[in-house]
Amino acid sequence: MIFGVLNQKGGVGKTTLSVNLAASLTRAGARVLLIDADPQGSALDWAAAREGDPLFSVAGFPRPSIHKEIGQIGHGYDHIVIDGPPRVTDLARSAIMAADIVVIPVQPSPYDIWAAEEVVKLIEEARIYKENIKSVFVINRKITNTAIGRDVREALAAYPVPVLQAVITQRVIFAEAAAHGQAVFELDANGPATAEVEAVATELMGYAQ
Ligand code: ADP
Ligand code: MG
Repeated sequence: MIFGVLNQKGGVGKTTLSVNLAASLTRAGARVLLIDADPQGSALDWAAAREGDPLFSVAGFPRPSIHKEIGQIGHGYDHIVIDGPPRVTDLARSAIMAADIVVIPVQPSPYDIWAAEEVVKLIEEARIYKENIKSVFVINRKITNTAIGRDVREALAAYPVPVLQAVITQRVIFAEAAAHGQAVFELDANGPATAEVEAVATELMGYAQ
């Protein structure tokens, strides 16, 4: 399965979700490749910050030919997660064309809800060439018991893209784990952040079937 984690808005949690999704799939026993398609190379930085053995393979490929080369790059892997770039439209378009499912992290903020229009448009355009692209929103950095945390699902319903039932809450552990090139499960295997990531991964696998 090829997951394209995309949103042209920066800071929404693409890299955070990408590394933790890749980690979760790895933990379940799959051979996973994380492709860093962001010229900024945050996923590569994450991998470089790590001490000891890598959890999964990470490869930098910030070029708009991912969709043409994915077969070759991803050969031998069960799952590929593409950590998408902000802004750069030709890269995002290529990552969408490469993906079986486009996963769009959005924060519970009106700015994020408005900005999501851009990636939704790109997906609609890509459907002309690739009819069966799936897409889904994942709410990230939800702040518990806030009105905006509840309203975001309703606001996103205006788009022709479903919203994952599982959400990721705002938690310091995501940044703490990233600082050492780790996934949250490595810091707190039985904690709430790990449980949320697992729920997202399980639901995504269901969507992807
Ligand atoms: P993007 O790749 O979309 O630019 P990042 O994954 O780099 O976004 O996230 C931006 C910042 O927000 C990072 O500092 C990251 O640690 C933090 N962050 C992302 N998701 C969460 C979360 N659920 N809880 C706390 N911090 C988060
Ligand atoms: Mg990023």
